[in-house]
Amino acid sequence: MEKAEINWNALGFGYIKTPYRFVAKYKDGAWDEGALTTDEKVVINESAGVLQYAQTCFEGLKAYTARNGAIVCFRPDLNASRMKDSALRLEMPVFPEDRFLSAVKEVVKANAAYVPQYGSGAALYLRPYMFATSPVIGVKPSTEYEFRIFATPVGPYFSGGVKPLTLKVSEFDRAAPRGTGNVKAGLNYAMSLHAIATAHAEGFNENLYLDPATRTKVEETGGANFLFVDKNGTVITPASNSILPSITRRSLCYVAEKYLGKKVEHREVYFSELKNFTECGLCGTAAVIAPVGKIVNGNEAILFPSGMDEPGKTTKELREVLTAIQTGDINAPEGWIYTID
Ligand SMILES: *Cc1c(COP(=O)(O)O)cnc(C)c1O
Repeated sequence: MEKAEINWNALGFGYIKTPYRFVAKYKDGAWDEGALTTDEKVVINESAGVLQYAQTCFEGLKAYTARNGAIVCFRPDLNASRMKDSALRLEMPVFPEDRFLSAVKEVVKANAAYVPQYGSGAALYLRPYMFATSPVIGVKPSTEYEFRIFATPVGPYFSGGVKPLTLKVSEFDRAAPRGTGNVKAGLNYAMSLHAIATAHAEGFNENLYLDPATRTKVEETGGANFLFVDKNGTVITPASNSILPSITRRSLCYVAEKYLGKKVEHREVYFSELKNFTECGLCGTAAVIAPVGKIVNGNEAILFPSGMDEPGKTTKELREVLTAIQTGDINAPEGWIYTID
């Protein structure tokens, strides 16, 4: 496959238009067949549910070239099932999981010229999303929806080397205890923008959100789950029903246990425990795991022993093993690698 003429080395994490996207429409209680289109424009009514009441959810995953030259995706079945959960919570029709997977396949195949080469660290990022298109004024679910997947090439997350991040304990909350924190709703991001703009203006990379009910437990950042390592090498990830269940975090925990022989705990994590941990990382599709060196809470600062120069030992190992599984350099657990062609 002839590759597109783009400067692969200069790719960041932004939108670049690619030739094809998939569109399916929901009307009169059913999804239509759906098809690829070259038109990147969305035309909807001025009073569409998505515009007035933010009735929308999304997913994010990557297609990339494996060692054997095949184009693959990592566990897209989990994106399909998470999108189902998001849709149900937002009173939207479910886009069937098998159709989600075939739409992923269609979009990647059609834009194969934009899938970076093996070993580049770059990827074709896929953005499945769904939104309410029919007009509403009284607050109620729309009756019509659109499901789309577009693709955009993205560069390696750590192009300038992996540098540990500095976080701030946000004075804002991310998700209510029985709210929508556990689904990938656009509204969770709209309300995080002021908090992240504030953190950036103060010189921090990200926000650490506490549980809103007691503000004593660690939840997550705006878009990544936490993973901690303690003195014994145990991997600990926070449990809460207002955390978005990251596919990367779940995969890293499996790797820690089954590939690295570590003890893994998924439990409530109190902020007061953080000073006992030796490493901290942020898990998500974009970075796999990004090391955290420092967390600031008002006048107090927690400095992880792994420091501000390099990722901690376990964080680094976890990233190496998971990325090697993704690229086919080491054997993946059954069903983790989804081959496109
Ligand atoms: C998408 C997302 C993540 C990361 O999930 P992955 O499936 O690993 O990409 C974490 N937190 C939030 C709030 C998210 O929206």
